[in-house]
Amino acid sequence: MFLKNKKVVVMGVANKRSIAWGCAKALKEQGADIIYTYQNERMKKQLLKLAEPTDLLVECDVSSDESIAQAFTIIQEKFDKIDGLVHAIAFANKEELDGNVSDITRSGYLLAQDISSYSLLAVAHYAKPLLNPGSGIVTMTYLGSERAIPNYNMMGIAKASLETAVKYLAYEFAVDKIRVNGISAGAIKTLAVTGVKDYDQLIKLSEDRTPDKAGVTIEEVGNTCAFLVSELAAGIVGDIIYVDKGVHLT
Ligand code: NAD
Repeated sequence: MFLKNKKVVVMGVANKRSIAWGCAKALKEQGADIIYTYQNERMKKQLLKLAEPTDLLVECDVSSDESIAQAFTIIQEKFDKIDGLVHAIAFANKEELDGNVSDITRSGYLLAQDISSYSLLAVAHYAKPLLNPGSGIVTMTYLGSERAIPNYNMMGIAKASLETAVKYLAYEFAVDKIRVNGISAGAIKTLAVTGVKDYDQLIKLSEDRTPDKAGVTIEEVGNTCAFLVSELAAGIVGDIIYVDKGVHLT
């Protein structure tokens, strides 16, 4: 168990299909204690079904600096220091995940960038004083940042921004021995993905291009996440690691 006695904040569990839940399970298997953050009361209800009664659950809506600040104050009061953070959060309006990118509205663009990319920087800002040297921050991205994948549209643009934020943040935080990396996961049927028009084609694309025609699982993404959070990944700084069973190769 390579994360024994480590405390890791996991942001973005909506239900048992969430990538963040795959991460939480893998982190726990490696001995970590998990601190969950949830967006709102509706998400809290789902989380209560999954978390252990002793786990700390903290509200954190990343669209609000106040909410982020409050969440990390609560976490600091309870645990003082943490050893990792998993950012598995994204949002875009349905209209921005369909049709033409030239029709994306200014407000839709800003919203998607705010929740899906800026939030990593905002969360890192408030988490930094709590993060022990040796900690790892991990975020989630997708191949649609590099290639024009049908209907991924606005989220592809936001993921490109997120991936570059990973690099700059990694460069800044490396001085304090805090590593920042991203996982580029294959498409998985989650709540977020169902916002993309014809999302079943996105999933099919990520299944058909794997050698065994089976898409990546949240458990496989979770195991890589646990590794990247841990000091086993001490040499990996500012990288985006594909966990898509080879989809990106062809
Ligand atoms: P999900 O719907 O299970 O999780 C998305 C989470 O984002 C939810 O928990 C939701 O509450 C949270 N969120 C949205 N707005 C928020 C806000 N304002 N404040 C706080 N939290 C907020 O879906 P998922 O697919 O597990 O998504 C997790 C991450 O993985 C996202 O960044 C997503 O883009 C990325 N990703 C997903 C896939 C996929 O195919 N599912 C592939 C690659 C990357």
